[in-house]
Amino acid sequence: MKIEKFPFGMTKYGEDVYKFSLSNKKKTRLEIINYGASIISFILEDQDGNCKDIVLGYDKLIDYEKGEKYFGATIGRYANRIKDSQFQLNGKTYKLNPNEGKNQLHGGNRGFQKRVWDYEIKDESIIFKYISEDGEEGYPGTCTLEVEYSLNDEDEVHINYTGSSDKDTLLNPTSHSYFNLDGHDRVGILDHYLEIDANYYLPKDGEGIPLGEVRSVKDTPFDFRKSKKINTIFQSNDEEKNNEEIKESKGIDHNFCLNSGDLGNSYFDEEKVFEEKIVKLAASIYNSHKTLKLLCYTDLPGLQVYTGNFIQGERGKYGVIYSDYSGIALEPQFYPNSINEENFQSPILKAGETFTSTTIYKLIKKI
Ligand code: BGC
Repeated sequence: MKIEKFPFGMTKYGEDVYKFSLSNKKKTRLEIINYGASIISFILEDQDGNCKDIVLGYDKLIDYEKGEKYFGATIGRYANRIKDSQFQLNGKTYKLNPNEGKNQLHGGNRGFQKRVWDYEIKDESIIFKYISEDGEEGYPGTCTLEVEYSLNDEDEVHINYTGSSDKDTLLNPTSHSYFNLDGHDRVGILDHYLEIDANYYLPKDGEGIPLGEVRSVKDTPFDFRKSKKINTIFQSNDEEKNNEEIKESKGIDHNFCLNSGDLGNSYFDEEKVFEEKIVKLAASIYNSHKTLKLLCYTDLPGLQVYTGNFIQGERGKYGVIYSDYSGIALEPQFYPNSINEENFQSPILKAGETFTSTTIYKLIKKI
């Protein structure tokens, strides 16, 4: 793997930002900036030498600074929502900065995705590092997160997270790329096929907060145990209330309880999940022409699937105006609001302990 570095711009605070280009023998290229440790391009070449970029993104740093769609970003400290922006830890109530009504989404107003990260180029990877101050966005403890990216010749992007803190805190990072396997500038992903290894999903309230119940996907539009086209969610004849959930979110924006976490009636087996930490296939997508497949692997218990339901009008790379459903995000994480649900596995990081997790996105051409 080759890694090259290019200037990408300067933030409004005067910090230099660089673009790092990782390429492999198949001429696949992954581009990441140290602003938010964000993936900005994922470019493949077909047998005729034509290139396509399969992730949504912006052209300029200023768009990343202003953007609110989290294109390609590393989300932290806590991916997804925390109800009422508060939680209890060790008998103390912590109040977080709300940034979506009274709730907090994706770590607050200036989460990890809006920060400039240190970087270190290794032989076969690049490591980004961010030190989040004690009290930042309301979270306790100085928390350090390293995110290591690599791209191998099998077209696998490996993302390894390593985190620690000097006080007990929460850590639930994820990767927020929106994929479109036909190319970021093509019509949306509704005709893509999706498969998710999840027997259960989390129904949620009107603010996107899980109700606390783990519901079977059987006979609902959320049953992706066998690959099916995403647009079938809008055509479903299933129970009215399930269709209401799709309508309310304008698509999928739900957490799936991955079977690999031994989830189900018992919700999870905490010890097993923690001890084994096995990276397993969580989901896959492929385009309607069946020329490209993307597999997503994780060792975390949940997968937030978001079909880009509210990205209409966002001006992206090369001036392309994205529409709703231009891309789909597959975000491995602990369940949303898990810190406030005693039946959900909590992303508590104890002082002095080390959090590790791995996500892999693997591409297969000509399936
Ligand atoms: C969430 C959506 C949110 C989006 C913001 C996703 O991870 O699930 O509810 O609107 O991020 O881009």
